Amino acid sequence: MDEKGNTLIKAKPRPGVKGINRVLVTGGAGFVGSHLIDYLMARGDHVMCLDNFFTGSKENIQHHIGKPNFEVIRHDVVEPILLECDQVYHLACPASPVHYKFNPVKTIKTNVIGTLNMLGLAKRVKARFLLTSTSEVYGDPLQHPQTEEYWGNVNPIGERSCYDEGKRCAETLAFDYYREHGLEIRVARIFNTYGPRMALDDGRVVSNFVKQAIEGTPMTIYGDGTQTRSFQYVSDLVKGLVALMDGDHTGPVNIGNPGEFTMKELADKVREVVNPDATTVYKENTADDPGRRKPDITKAKELLGWEPVVPLAEGLQKMVGDFRRRLGKDEDEDGP
Ligand code: NAD
Ligand code: UDP
Ligand code: UDP
Repeated sequence: MDEKGNTLIKAKPRPGVKGINRVLVTGGAGFVGSHLIDYLMARGDHVMCLDNFFTGSKENIQHHIGKPNFEVIRHDVVEPILLECDQVYHLACPASPVHYKFNPVKTIKTNVIGTLNMLGLAKRVKARFLLTSTSEVYGDPLQHPQTEEYWGNVNPIGERSCYDEGKRCAETLAFDYYREHGLEIRVARIFNTYGPRMALDDGRVVSNFVKQAIEGTPMTIYGDGTQTRSFQYVSDLVKGLVALMDGDHTGPVNIGNPGEFTMKELADKVREVVNPDATTVYKENTADDPGRRKPDITKAKELLGWEPVVPLAEGLQKMVGDFRRRLGKDEDEDGP
Protein backbone atom coordinates (compact mmCIF):
# COMPACT_ATOMS: atom_id res chain seq x y z
CA MET A 1 0.00 0.00 0.00
CA ASP A 2 1.22 3.54 -0.66
CA GLU A 3 0.57 6.57 1.58
CA LYS A 4 -2.80 7.18 -0.14
CA GLY A 5 -3.99 3.67 0.78
CA ASN A 6 -3.75 2.34 -2.79
CA THR A 7 -2.96 -1.31 -3.21
CA LEU A 8 0.00 -1.27 -5.57
CA ILE A 9 0.02 -3.40 -8.69
CA LYS A 10 3.61 -4.49 -9.34
CA ALA A 11 4.80 -4.05 -12.92
CA LYS A 12 6.38 -7.10 -14.49
CA PRO A 13 10.12 -6.40 -14.91
CA ARG A 14 10.79 -5.96 -18.62
CA PRO A 15 13.42 -8.07 -20.38
CA GLY A 16 16.92 -6.72 -19.94
CA VAL A 17 16.06 -4.00 -17.43
CA LYS A 18 17.12 -5.83 -14.26
CA GLY A 19 13.82 -5.28 -12.47
CA ILE A 20 13.81 -1.47 -12.70
CA ASN A 21 10.91 -0.15 -14.73
CA ARG A 22 11.87 3.08 -16.53
CA VAL A 23 8.67 4.97 -17.19
CA LEU A 24 8.19 8.08 -19.31
CA VAL A 25 5.08 10.05 -18.32
CA THR A 26 4.28 12.79 -20.83
CA GLY A 27 2.05 15.48 -19.33
CA GLY A 28 3.34 14.31 -15.95
CA ALA A 29 3.09 17.74 -14.31
CA GLY A 30 -0.65 17.90 -14.98
CA PHE A 31 -3.56 16.82 -12.83
CA VAL A 32 -3.77 13.12 -13.75
CA GLY A 33 -0.07 12.75 -14.63
CA SER A 34 1.11 13.92 -11.22
CA HIS A 35 -1.12 11.42 -9.39
CA LEU A 36 0.07 8.65 -11.73
CA ILE A 37 3.67 9.62 -10.97
CA ASP A 38 2.97 9.44 -7.21
CA TYR A 39 1.81 5.85 -7.71
CA LEU A 40 4.74 4.82 -9.92
CA MET A 41 7.28 6.45 -7.59
CA ALA A 42 5.74 4.68 -4.59
CA ARG A 43 6.26 1.28 -6.20
CA GLY A 44 9.87 2.07 -7.05
CA ASP A 45 9.80 2.78 -10.78
CA HIS A 46 12.28 5.18 -12.36
CA VAL A 47 10.10 8.03 -13.60
CA MET A 48 10.79 10.64 -16.28
CA CYS A 49 8.21 13.42 -16.22
CA LEU A 50 8.08 15.22 -19.57
CA ASP A 51 5.97 18.37 -19.75
CA ASN A 52 5.83 21.77 -21.46
CA PHE A 53 3.99 23.26 -18.43
CA PHE A 54 1.13 24.64 -20.54
CA THR A 55 -1.52 23.53 -18.04
CA GLY A 56 0.67 21.58 -15.61
CA SER A 57 2.71 23.02 -12.78
CA LYS A 58 5.93 22.30 -10.90
CA GLU A 59 3.95 22.43 -7.66
CA ASN A 60 2.23 19.15 -8.66
CA ILE A 61 5.52 17.25 -8.79
CA GLN A 62 7.83 19.25 -6.55
CA HIS A 63 7.70 16.63 -3.76
CA HIS A 64 9.65 14.26 -6.07
CA ILE A 65 12.31 16.73 -7.26
CA GLY A 66 15.73 15.66 -5.99
CA LYS A 67 14.84 11.97 -5.64
CA PRO A 68 17.34 9.72 -7.46
CA ASN A 69 14.64 7.84 -9.39
CA PHE A 70 12.89 11.00 -10.69
CA GLU A 71 13.67 13.37 -13.55
CA VAL A 72 11.83 16.36 -15.01
CA ILE A 73 12.22 17.18 -18.69
CA ARG A 74 10.80 20.46 -19.98
CA HIS A 75 9.87 19.58 -23.54
CA ASP A 76 7.02 19.92 -26.01
CA VAL A 77 5.93 16.58 -27.49
CA VAL A 78 5.34 18.26 -30.85
CA GLU A 79 9.16 18.21 -31.19
CA PRO A 80 11.01 14.88 -31.49
CA ILE A 81 13.09 13.71 -28.53
CA LEU A 82 15.43 10.80 -27.82
CA LEU A 83 14.93 9.04 -24.46
CA GLU A 84 15.30 5.46 -23.24
CA CYS A 85 12.48 3.80 -21.30
CA ASP A 86 10.41 0.63 -20.89
CA GLN A 87 6.94 2.14 -20.72
CA VAL A 88 5.42 5.38 -22.05
CA TYR A 89 2.28 6.81 -20.47
CA HIS A 90 1.29 9.44 -23.03
CA LEU A 91 -0.90 12.04 -21.31
CA ALA A 92 0.45 15.31 -22.77
CA CYS A 93 -2.56 17.30 -23.96
CA PRO A 94 -4.74 19.94 -22.30
CA ALA A 95 -7.94 18.23 -21.09
CA SER A 96 -10.23 21.09 -20.08
CA PRO A 97 -12.39 22.51 -22.89
CA VAL A 98 -11.31 26.04 -21.86
CA HIS A 99 -7.65 25.11 -22.31
CA TYR A 100 -7.90 22.96 -25.43
CA LYS A 101 -10.02 25.57 -27.26
CA PHE A 102 -7.54 28.35 -26.32
CA ASN A 103 -5.19 27.38 -29.17
CA PRO A 104 -7.00 24.70 -31.18
CA VAL A 105 -4.32 24.26 -33.85
CA LYS A 106 -1.76 23.59 -31.11
CA THR A 107 -4.18 21.07 -29.55
CA ILE A 108 -4.34 19.17 -32.85
CA LYS A 109 -0.54 19.30 -33.24
CA THR A 110 -0.15 17.96 -29.70
CA ASN A 111 -2.58 15.10 -30.32
CA VAL A 112 -1.37 14.16 -33.79
CA ILE A 113 2.31 15.15 -34.13
CA GLY A 114 2.95 14.76 -30.40
CA THR A 115 1.44 11.28 -30.34
CA LEU A 116 3.32 10.33 -33.53
CA ASN A 117 6.61 11.38 -31.92
CA MET A 118 5.94 9.42 -28.74
CA LEU A 119 4.91 6.36 -30.77
CA GLY A 120 8.11 6.72 -32.82
CA LEU A 121 10.10 6.89 -29.57
CA ALA A 122 8.33 3.82 -28.15
CA LYS A 123 8.97 1.93 -31.39
CA ARG A 124 12.69 2.81 -31.37
CA VAL A 125 13.25 1.63 -27.78
CA LYS A 126 10.61 -1.17 -27.89
CA ALA A 127 8.67 0.34 -25.00
CA ARG A 128 5.03 -0.34 -24.21
CA PHE A 129 2.88 2.70 -25.05
CA LEU A 130 -0.33 3.78 -23.31
CA LEU A 131 -2.51 6.51 -24.83
CA THR A 132 -4.88 8.44 -22.58
CA SER A 133 -7.77 8.83 -24.97
CA THR A 134 -11.13 10.14 -23.91
CA SER A 135 -14.87 9.59 -23.76
CA GLU A 136 -14.99 12.58 -26.15
CA VAL A 137 -14.28 10.14 -28.99
CA TYR A 138 -17.98 9.22 -28.56
CA GLY A 139 -18.94 12.89 -29.18
CA ASP A 140 -22.61 13.60 -28.46
CA PRO A 141 -23.42 9.91 -28.14
CA LEU A 142 -26.43 8.24 -29.74
CA GLN A 143 -25.75 5.09 -27.68
CA HIS A 144 -26.18 5.11 -23.92
CA PRO A 145 -24.26 3.98 -21.91
CA GLN A 146 -21.26 3.99 -24.24
CA THR A 147 -19.46 0.72 -25.00
CA GLU A 148 -16.07 0.58 -26.68
CA GLU A 149 -17.71 -0.79 -29.84
CA TYR A 150 -19.62 2.46 -30.38
CA TRP A 151 -17.97 4.59 -33.12
CA GLY A 152 -19.26 7.90 -31.84
CA ASN A 153 -21.11 10.95 -33.07
CA VAL A 154 -18.51 13.69 -33.45
CA ASN A 155 -18.74 17.02 -35.26
CA PRO A 156 -15.54 17.18 -37.35
CA ILE A 157 -15.59 20.98 -37.78
CA GLY A 158 -16.80 22.30 -34.41
CA GLU A 159 -15.08 24.08 -31.54
CA ARG A 160 -14.46 20.80 -29.69
CA SER A 161 -13.16 18.97 -32.77
CA CYS A 162 -9.49 19.86 -32.17
CA TYR A 163 -9.67 17.68 -29.07
CA ASP A 164 -12.23 15.04 -30.10
CA GLU A 165 -10.89 14.44 -33.60
CA GLY A 166 -7.31 14.90 -32.37
CA LYS A 167 -7.79 12.05 -29.88
CA ARG A 168 -9.55 9.92 -32.49
CA CYS A 169 -6.55 10.37 -34.80
CA ALA A 170 -4.20 9.59 -31.89
CA GLU A 171 -6.07 6.30 -31.38
CA THR A 172 -5.77 5.54 -35.10
CA LEU A 173 -2.03 6.20 -34.99
CA ALA A 174 -1.60 3.93 -31.95
CA PHE A 175 -3.47 1.07 -33.67
CA ASP A 176 -1.51 1.59 -36.91
CA TYR A 177 1.79 1.34 -34.98
CA TYR A 178 0.43 -1.84 -33.41
CA ARG A 179 -0.65 -3.35 -36.75
CA GLU A 180 2.24 -2.08 -38.88
CA HIS A 181 5.15 -2.20 -36.43
CA GLY A 182 4.00 -4.66 -33.76
CA LEU A 183 4.29 -1.95 -31.06
CA GLU A 184 2.75 -2.93 -27.71
CA ILE A 185 -0.02 -0.40 -27.27
CA ARG A 186 -2.71 0.28 -24.68
CA VAL A 187 -5.61 2.70 -25.22
CA ALA A 188 -7.65 4.03 -22.29
CA ARG A 189 -10.84 6.01 -22.94
CA ILE A 190 -11.07 8.15 -19.83
CA PHE A 191 -14.35 9.63 -18.62
CA ASN A 192 -14.58 12.91 -16.62
CA THR A 193 -12.12 12.74 -13.73
CA TYR A 194 -11.74 15.07 -10.75
CA GLY A 195 -9.66 15.42 -7.62
CA PRO A 196 -6.95 17.40 -5.83
CA ARG A 197 -4.49 19.38 -8.02
CA MET A 198 -6.98 20.22 -10.75
CA ALA A 199 -5.90 23.66 -11.95
CA LEU A 200 -7.95 26.36 -10.24
CA ASP A 201 -8.52 28.09 -13.59
CA ASP A 202 -9.25 24.80 -15.27
CA GLY A 203 -12.85 25.70 -16.19
CA ARG A 204 -14.09 22.11 -15.84
CA VAL A 205 -17.35 21.71 -14.02
CA VAL A 206 -16.18 20.00 -10.82
CA SER A 207 -13.28 22.39 -10.22
CA ASN A 208 -15.51 25.38 -11.05
CA PHE A 209 -18.32 24.32 -8.68
CA VAL A 210 -15.96 23.42 -5.80
CA LYS A 211 -14.02 26.69 -6.16
CA GLN A 212 -17.24 28.73 -6.42
CA ALA A 213 -18.80 27.00 -3.40
CA ILE A 214 -15.68 27.63 -1.30
CA GLU A 215 -15.51 31.28 -2.37
CA GLY A 216 -19.24 31.79 -1.84
CA THR A 217 -19.90 32.84 -5.45
CA PRO A 218 -22.77 31.21 -7.40
CA MET A 219 -22.05 27.87 -9.08
CA THR A 220 -22.30 28.44 -12.85
CA ILE A 221 -24.62 25.89 -14.47
CA TYR A 222 -24.28 26.01 -18.27
CA GLY A 223 -27.47 25.43 -20.28
CA ASP A 224 -30.48 24.05 -18.40
CA GLY A 225 -28.30 21.77 -16.26
CA THR A 226 -30.01 18.54 -17.39
CA GLN A 227 -26.97 17.33 -19.37
CA THR A 228 -25.20 14.43 -17.63
CA ARG A 229 -21.65 13.33 -16.92
CA SER A 230 -20.13 10.43 -14.98
CA PHE A 231 -17.47 11.59 -12.56
CA GLN A 232 -14.50 9.46 -11.55
CA TYR A 233 -12.14 10.17 -8.67
CA VAL A 234 -8.51 10.39 -9.75
CA SER A 235 -7.15 7.50 -7.62
CA ASP A 236 -9.60 5.14 -9.35
CA LEU A 237 -8.34 6.34 -12.73
CA VAL A 238 -4.69 5.85 -11.79
CA LYS A 239 -5.33 2.25 -10.74
CA GLY A 240 -7.21 1.63 -13.99
CA LEU A 241 -4.40 3.06 -16.12
CA VAL A 242 -1.74 0.97 -14.37
CA ALA A 243 -3.86 -2.19 -14.63
CA LEU A 244 -4.28 -1.55 -18.36
CA MET A 245 -0.58 -0.82 -18.92
CA ASP A 246 0.61 -3.90 -17.01
CA GLY A 247 -2.11 -6.21 -18.33
CA ASP A 248 -2.41 -8.11 -21.58
CA HIS A 249 -5.05 -6.18 -23.52
CA THR A 250 -4.60 -3.34 -26.01
CA GLY A 251 -8.05 -1.85 -25.41
CA PRO A 252 -9.60 0.51 -26.12
CA VAL A 253 -11.02 0.24 -22.61
CA ASN A 254 -13.41 2.68 -20.94
CA ILE A 255 -12.02 3.88 -17.60
CA GLY A 256 -14.73 5.78 -15.77
CA ASN A 257 -17.29 5.71 -13.00
CA PRO A 258 -20.75 4.72 -14.25
CA GLY A 259 -22.52 6.91 -11.65
CA GLU A 260 -24.37 9.44 -13.85
CA PHE A 261 -25.35 12.95 -12.65
CA THR A 262 -27.01 16.00 -14.21
CA MET A 263 -25.16 19.26 -13.63
CA LYS A 264 -28.01 20.30 -11.31
CA GLU A 265 -27.47 17.12 -9.27
CA LEU A 266 -23.72 17.79 -9.19
CA ALA A 267 -24.40 21.30 -7.84
CA ASP A 268 -26.60 19.74 -5.11
CA LYS A 269 -23.80 17.32 -4.16
CA VAL A 270 -21.24 20.11 -3.99
CA ARG A 271 -23.65 22.11 -1.83
CA GLU A 272 -24.03 19.13 0.54
CA VAL A 273 -20.30 18.48 0.80
CA VAL A 274 -18.72 21.94 0.54
CA ASN A 275 -21.11 24.72 1.50
CA PRO A 276 -24.84 24.39 2.30
CA ASP A 277 -25.33 28.10 1.44
CA ALA A 278 -23.89 27.81 -2.08
CA THR A 279 -26.18 29.23 -4.76
CA THR A 280 -26.42 28.61 -8.52
CA VAL A 281 -26.67 30.82 -11.59
CA TYR A 282 -27.56 29.69 -15.11
CA LYS A 283 -25.30 30.66 -18.06
CA GLU A 284 -25.45 29.97 -21.79
CA ASN A 285 -24.03 26.56 -22.69
CA THR A 286 -21.03 26.07 -24.99
CA ALA A 287 -21.34 24.75 -28.58
CA ASP A 288 -21.70 21.00 -29.24
CA ASP A 289 -21.94 20.14 -25.55
CA PRO A 290 -22.65 16.37 -25.29
CA GLY A 291 -26.06 15.74 -23.72
CA ARG A 292 -25.32 12.48 -21.90
CA ARG A 293 -22.23 10.55 -20.90
CA LYS A 294 -21.93 7.27 -19.00
CA PRO A 295 -19.37 4.51 -19.46
CA ASP A 296 -20.16 0.85 -19.88
CA ILE A 297 -17.24 -0.63 -17.92
CA THR A 298 -17.95 -4.33 -18.51
CA LYS A 299 -14.69 -4.67 -20.46
CA ALA A 300 -12.57 -3.03 -17.75
CA LYS A 301 -14.12 -5.27 -15.10
CA GLU A 302 -13.64 -8.46 -17.12
CA LEU A 303 -10.26 -7.78 -18.74
CA LEU A 304 -8.53 -5.74 -16.04
CA GLY A 305 -10.36 -6.81 -12.89
CA TRP A 306 -10.84 -3.08 -12.28
CA GLU A 307 -13.75 -0.95 -11.18
CA PRO A 308 -14.00 2.42 -9.45
CA VAL A 309 -14.56 2.45 -5.69
CA VAL A 310 -14.78 6.13 -4.68
CA PRO A 311 -18.33 7.57 -4.69
CA LEU A 312 -18.85 11.20 -5.74
CA ALA A 313 -19.55 12.63 -2.26
CA GLU A 314 -16.42 10.97 -0.85
CA GLY A 315 -14.25 12.13 -3.77
CA LEU A 316 -15.50 15.71 -3.45
CA GLN A 317 -14.69 15.63 0.25
CA LYS A 318 -11.15 14.50 -0.58
CA MET A 319 -10.53 17.41 -2.97
CA VAL A 320 -11.99 20.21 -0.85
CA GLY A 321 -9.02 20.48 1.53
CA ASP A 322 -6.58 20.91 -1.36
CA PHE A 323 -8.79 23.55 -3.01
CA ARG A 324 -9.25 25.46 0.26
CA ARG A 325 -5.50 25.51 0.83
CA ARG A 326 -4.69 26.75 -2.67
CA LEU A 327 -7.45 29.37 -2.52
CA GLY A 328 -6.13 30.61 0.84
CA LYS A 329 -9.41 29.57 2.51
CA ASP A 330 -8.14 27.00 4.98
CA GLU A 331 -10.75 25.90 7.49
CA ASP A 332 -8.97 27.50 10.49
CA GLU A 333 -8.86 30.87 8.67
CA ASP A 334 -12.64 30.70 8.09
CA GLY A 335 -13.43 29.31 11.51
CA PRO A 336 -15.00 31.23 14.37
P1 NAD B 1 -3.99 18.57 -17.57
O1 NAD B 1 -4.25 19.71 -18.50
O2 NAD B 1 -4.01 18.82 -16.10
O3 NAD B 1 -2.60 17.88 -17.92
C1 NAD B 1 -2.05 17.84 -19.19
C2 NAD B 1 -0.55 17.99 -19.08
O4 NAD B 1 0.03 17.92 -20.39
C3 NAD B 1 -0.14 19.34 -18.48
O5 NAD B 1 0.85 19.16 -17.52
C4 NAD B 1 0.38 20.11 -19.70
O6 NAD B 1 1.32 21.11 -19.34
C5 NAD B 1 0.94 19.00 -20.55
N1 NAD B 1 1.01 19.31 -21.99
C6 NAD B 1 0.02 19.84 -22.76
N2 NAD B 1 0.45 19.96 -24.02
C7 NAD B 1 1.74 19.51 -24.04
C8 NAD B 1 2.73 19.41 -25.06
N3 NAD B 1 2.48 19.80 -26.31
N4 NAD B 1 3.94 18.91 -24.73
C9 NAD B 1 4.21 18.53 -23.47
N5 NAD B 1 3.31 18.61 -22.45
C10 NAD B 1 2.10 19.10 -22.76
O7 NAD B 1 -5.05 17.44 -17.96
P2 NAD B 1 -5.38 16.07 -17.23
O8 NAD B 1 -6.77 16.16 -16.72
O9 NAD B 1 -4.30 15.69 -16.31
O10 NAD B 1 -5.41 15.07 -18.47
C11 NAD B 1 -4.31 14.22 -18.76
C12 NAD B 1 -4.64 13.37 -19.99
O11 NAD B 1 -5.82 12.59 -19.74
C13 NAD B 1 -4.92 14.19 -21.25
O12 NAD B 1 -4.35 13.53 -22.36
C14 NAD B 1 -6.41 14.16 -21.36
O13 NAD B 1 -6.84 14.28 -22.70
C15 NAD B 1 -6.75 12.80 -20.78
N6 NAD B 1 -8.12 12.79 -20.24
C16 NAD B 1 -8.41 13.43 -19.06
C17 NAD B 1 -9.71 13.45 -18.60
C18 NAD B 1 -10.06 14.14 -17.31
O14 NAD B 1 -11.25 14.21 -16.97
N7 NAD B 1 -9.12 14.61 -16.53
C19 NAD B 1 -10.73 12.83 -19.32
C20 NAD B 1 -10.40 12.22 -20.53
C21 NAD B 1 -9.09 12.19 -20.98
N1 UDP C 1 10.79 10.09 -32.87
C1 UDP C 1 11.13 10.68 -31.68
N2 UDP C 1 11.96 10.02 -30.84
C2 UDP C 1 12.47 8.79 -31.11
C3 UDP C 1 12.10 8.17 -32.33
C4 UDP C 1 11.25 8.85 -33.18
O1 UDP C 1 10.71 11.80 -31.36
O2 UDP C 1 13.19 8.26 -30.29
C5 UDP C 1 9.90 10.80 -33.79
C6 UDP C 1 10.52 10.95 -35.17
O3 UDP C 1 11.19 12.20 -35.23
C7 UDP C 1 9.34 10.89 -36.11
C8 UDP C 1 8.24 10.22 -35.32
O4 UDP C 1 8.75 10.01 -34.01
O5 UDP C 1 8.89 12.20 -36.43
C9 UDP C 1 7.83 8.90 -35.90
O6 UDP C 1 8.95 8.05 -35.91
P1 UDP C 1 9.02 6.75 -36.81
O7 UDP C 1 10.40 6.18 -36.66
O8 UDP C 1 7.90 5.85 -36.52
O9 UDP C 1 8.74 7.29 -38.27
P2 UDP C 1 9.72 7.94 -39.35
O10 UDP C 1 10.77 8.74 -38.63
O11 UDP C 1 10.27 6.78 -40.08
O12 UDP C 1 8.79 8.79 -40.16
N1 UDP D 1 -20.36 23.03 -17.07
C1 UDP D 1 -21.17 23.76 -16.22
N2 UDP D 1 -20.60 24.76 -15.48
C2 UDP D 1 -19.29 25.04 -15.51
C3 UDP D 1 -18.45 24.26 -16.36
C4 UDP D 1 -19.03 23.27 -17.13
O1 UDP D 1 -22.39 23.53 -16.14
O2 UDP D 1 -18.85 25.94 -14.80
C5 UDP D 1 -20.97 21.91 -17.83
C6 UDP D 1 -20.56 21.84 -19.30
O3 UDP D 1 -21.43 22.62 -20.09
C7 UDP D 1 -20.74 20.34 -19.58
C8 UDP D 1 -20.40 19.69 -18.25
O4 UDP D 1 -20.50 20.71 -17.27
O5 UDP D 1 -22.06 20.05 -19.89
C9 UDP D 1 -19.00 19.10 -18.19
O6 UDP D 1 -18.08 20.08 -18.60
P1 UDP D 1 -16.51 19.93 -18.40
O7 UDP D 1 -15.89 21.14 -19.03
O8 UDP D 1 -16.19 19.65 -16.99
O9 UDP D 1 -16.13 18.60 -19.19
P2 UDP D 1 -16.53 17.99 -20.63
O10 UDP D 1 -17.21 16.71 -20.29
O11 UDP D 1 -17.45 18.92 -21.34
O12 UDP D 1 -15.24 17.83 -21.32
